[in-house]
Amino acid sequence: VHKRVMKAEKMEVVSHLASSISHEVRNPLTTVRGFMQMMLQSEIPEEKRKEFLKISIGEIDRANDIIRDYLTFAKPSPENVKTLNIKEELNRTFQIVTPFANMNGVEIRKKIDDYLFKGEEQLFQQCLINLTKNCIEAMPNKGLLTIETQEENGNLLLIISDNGQGMTKEQLARIGEPYFTTKGREGTGLGMLVSIRIIESMSGKLSVESQVNEGTSFYIRLPRVEEGA
Ligand code: ADP
Ligand code: MG
Repeated sequence: VHKRVMKAEKMEVVSHLASSISHEVRNPLTTVRGFMQMMLQSEIPEEKRKEFLKISIGEIDRANDIIRDYLTFAKPSPENVKTLNIKEELNRTFQIVTPFANMNGVEIRKKIDDYLFKGEEQLFQQCLINLTKNCIEAMPNKGLLTIETQEENGNLLLIISDNGQGMTKEQLARIGEPYFTTKGREGTGLGMLVSIRIIESMSGKLSVESQVNEGTSFYIRLPRVEEGA
């Protein structure tokens, strides 16, 4: 099994990410604005108008995807750190992700216990959604998404696995690289980078194991805290 542990050095790029992302969102907005202006100014044949609208919708979708994968990452605010319960957090994620899983014929199997840890709920949710979404997208027709919690050396270990298409060694090595995606225009290549960064901000560690045509497992290790901490 190919295995990869995320290292901090990859994170040096992160400081430059915010400005680069606003750029990425601004491009489609500029394009859409240009088309709207054209449609306002002159008589445009119906066919052209339809084409402009189609492109514009595509561009808006693109901007939306970037914001969706990045959103809360843009504003990490340490003052929002609370004690969280992994069971409650996962239930919240399932509410969002289950319809998407159903659409793809993906069954979700859970083995989840109560463990407490510290984090910013919105950021952690973004991480869970990015990872589970990647798993579901790796199983376009049918599959099994497994979510399991364990205690490991007093820490919380959360394992998110799929039995989908998996990754080659080369793909695995590029995980967390900004804009690395194998999904073409459908992908942003930001989800993994954001997720790694969020777990690191929680003093945790995210690692990945994957094998082509077998599936992928994400391992999230987080320090546990006691009740009332
Ligand atoms: P995106 O999902 O927009 O492509 P991500 O940063 O979320 O960007 O993921 C980057 C790439 O990592 C994906 O395009 C895919 O090639 C690979 N990847 C991530 N998760 C999985 C998974 N569970 N199974 C297979 N490949 C994955
Ligand atoms: Mg993704």
